[in-house]
Amino acid sequence: MRAKAAIPLLRQGWSFLSDAFLEVLAPRHCRLCTRYLGDSRQRMGFICNACNDALHPAPAPQEILNRVLRHFPGDELALSHIVARYLYCDDPPLSALIHALKYEGCPRIGLDFGAELGMTLATLGFDRYDAVVAVPVHAARRRERGYNQAEEIAAGVRAALNIPVAADLIRRRRYTVSQTTLAAGERTQNLQKAFCAGRNAQAARGATLLLVDDVLTTGSTLNACAATLLELGARRVDAATLAVAE
Ligand SMILES: [Zn+2]
Repeated sequence: MRAKAAIPLLRQGWSFLSDAFLEVLAPRHCRLCTRYLGDSRQRMGFICNACNDALHPAPAPQEILNRVLRHFPGDELALSHIVARYLYCDDPPLSALIHALKYEGCPRIGLDFGAELGMTLATLGFDRYDAVVAVPVHAARRRERGYNQAEEIAAGVRAALNIPVAADLIRRRRYTVSQTTLAAGERTQNLQKAFCAGRNAQAARGATLLLVDDVLTTGSTLNACAATLLELGARRVDAATLAVAE
């Protein structure tokens, strides 16, 4: 009898837990203005269209490339084109959303923002690639965080552009010293040899690839990845990031 009486309680408990779980997976209110997101016209599951439209857009691809080229004298730049969706400044709200994506266990933000990035790529005509490649994080960091935010963004891009994601083409070899404390020249040195061939490296041969990451600062990390992919035989490597730093 006691066991029977316990069943409805268990069901109630389960229902509460699954609701809480769904709320985490698909929060129903905008994280910025608290507007209800149950409306099917809302494109994303964490911010409303109006708040998304109020975020600053990134400069045009050629301007981003010109900025990055300043850090890479001569022909050191391995990337051919760079596209970004937003302009990143330290003020909220974008920095808060990216912080939640990277450090607060909110991979859903990467997926939705990735789809938004995919639409930008399509609008600008950057939509013909053999595969999307996420910038890898070190295995230890991935374990610690539970996911790689660049892979979440790549999955969103894939969904928007219908281009497959190629996993494990390259791998992060070791923990690098935090890039933010280093000058541009030191960053390049720090990142040389930080990436190496992954188990699926042969898939890079002859491929036109789109490398995906969260925020572009100097471009050193993306360029180190692109250089490794070119060494593995990729024909061309472009990059797409959610945001580009001011
Ligand atoms: Zn909102």
